Amino acid sequence: MFTCTGYAAGAADQPLAPFTFQRRDPGPTDVAIEIVYCGVCHSDLHTVRGEWGNTLYPCVPGHEIVGRVTAVGGAVTRFSVGDTVGVGCMVDSCRTCASCREGLEQYCDNGFVGTYNGPDRKSGGHTFGGYASAIVVEQDFVLKIPKSLDLAAAAPLLCAGITLWSPLRHWKAGPGKKVGIVGLGGLGHMGVKLAHALGAHLVLFTTSKSKVADGERLGADEVVLSTDPEAMKAHTESFDLIVDAVAADHDINAYLGLVKRDGTLVQVGAPEKPLAVAAFSVIWKRRSFAGSLIGGIAETQEMLDFCGAHGITSDIEMIPMQKIEEAYARMLKSDVKYRFVIDMASLKAA
Ligand SMILES: [Zn+2]
Ligand SMILES: [Zn+2]
Repeated sequence: MFTCTGYAAGAADQPLAPFTFQRRDPGPTDVAIEIVYCGVCHSDLHTVRGEWGNTLYPCVPGHEIVGRVTAVGGAVTRFSVGDTVGVGCMVDSCRTCASCREGLEQYCDNGFVGTYNGPDRKSGGHTFGGYASAIVVEQDFVLKIPKSLDLAAAAPLLCAGITLWSPLRHWKAGPGKKVGIVGLGGLGHMGVKLAHALGAHLVLFTTSKSKVADGERLGADEVVLSTDPEAMKAHTESFDLIVDAVAADHDINAYLGLVKRDGTLVQVGAPEKPLAVAAFSVIWKRRSFAGSLIGGIAETQEMLDFCGAHGITSDIEMIPMQKIEEAYARMLKSDVKYRFVIDMASLKAA
């Protein structure tokens, strides 16, 4: 075992605070990583505040991890000391079920092991995430970060990026397809960049006039103010695919009506209250209302390689670890363009 420093929540009503803990020494198939940056995901905040009811304390969140390999086990073949690597939302899965065998570890029949707040099958207890100085991960769940990418701005690709990439690929966004992204936040802004690079005709929906120019800058062919009924109507029954990244309560039927025959609306944002889908919104035009959860490991590597080739990263705002509570408060107000990333060098400065 070796000692790590990080930040943890001790309980749902406590702010994150400095925390010292032990990690396992790397086993034969493990990769030890010095964490350089970690993105701040909305799931981190939900989990530390106990809002999903399943939080194990102390909780060290963080699943948009990038860093450098400091040691590898004897059976590790794909990674060497010094490599630039990433870790996303998963650090293990059963690897034997039908989903795992298809490379869909996020849908593991036996439940994947979350990077934090998951059952730690190797060390006991629960897993600690990326708001920390280091992490030890099974080689099969470690990703290669293309050298061409800015390391800090690549961190959000590990959750926000793959969450949008997976549905865009599964429902075949590309040339000749009309694709909509709903909401320009951490998830949505990655959707705009990725769908544009995939060659789709991309329409961004936003409620905020102030985001129109940004939407166009990030790659949207059109930006529609969803509060403008006439602008919405102009797109009736025209979309092959809409990916909805909004986590607040909203009228899903307004978007289903824009999907053409046999098209799909995929939900990736997770509003607290159930969305009211009118039966006729899907009966009419044989539409599908679907969901999608992050992405598998092979698919995540595919996304990272695509981003490397196309120069795609997240728009980020860097913070020191000590400012995390301030960042959470701003994230709740959507006051970030478009992802906070923690500079782990700040752990040493403290
Ligand atoms: Zn996340
Ligand atoms: Zn499995």
